[in-house]
Amino acid sequence: MALLILALIILIITFLVYASANIRSGIYIKSYYRSKNSGKVVALTFDDGPQFKVTPALLDVLAEEEVKAAFFCIGEKVESNKDTISRMVKDGHLIGAHSYKHHYSLTYCNSELFKADLVKSIKVLEEASGEKVTWYRPPYGVTNPIMAFVCRELKLDIAGWSVRSLDTMEKDYRKALNRVLKKVSPGSVILLHDRLPFAPELARRIIKELKRRGYSFERFDKLVKN
Ligand SMILES: [Zn+2]
Repeated sequence: MALLILALIILIITFLVYASANIRSGIYIKSYYRSKNSGKVVALTFDDGPQFKVTPALLDVLAEEEVKAAFFCIGEKVESNKDTISRMVKDGHLIGAHSYKHHYSLTYCNSELFKADLVKSIKVLEEASGEKVTWYRPPYGVTNPIMAFVCRELKLDIAGWSVRSLDTMEKDYRKALNRVLKKVSPGSVILLHDRLPFAPELARRIIKELKRRGYSFERFDKLVKN
């Protein structure tokens, strides 16, 4: 009997960890993480910016390649990079929130603290962009009942991903590039980070190789809601 209870507890804990850590689980709240009915079309998404110098260089690459991407920005970085946000809007990219502080503790705090951080990030983004923010990508991809409740209240859609480059774990962009090229398929949403110095070069290589394979690029919100 004791063994059965222990097995049940382990099963429940495993389920809760899966539900929380996997943004695609949709157990607490639905996330948009890929298109299931597109042709050879994918979307590029960038988290953790805007970053001084790196993000403008990345915007140059996207402009040269005529690719519209999505940027999920950290509020406190927006404060000192407002010109970059204006340029993102002008260039036709999607801007979404990715918290104000990007601190792990905020993922598991009470709803007031979580909401205050999120509302602050949306406010600075809307001031800098002049656009309404309707998308939120949770830091670390963690979802939970508090986050789900607050996002429903603020009428935010949740942005997930289907291809993880794991670029933040690499010193050399080639490993992240190979990972993306191996995992990509029609309808993929690719997760990248524009705080990394190699982000512009990694994006350029991904775009060139996928174009060579016959893929085209669509802005995240349009791809996942088609
Ligand atoms: Zn992040």
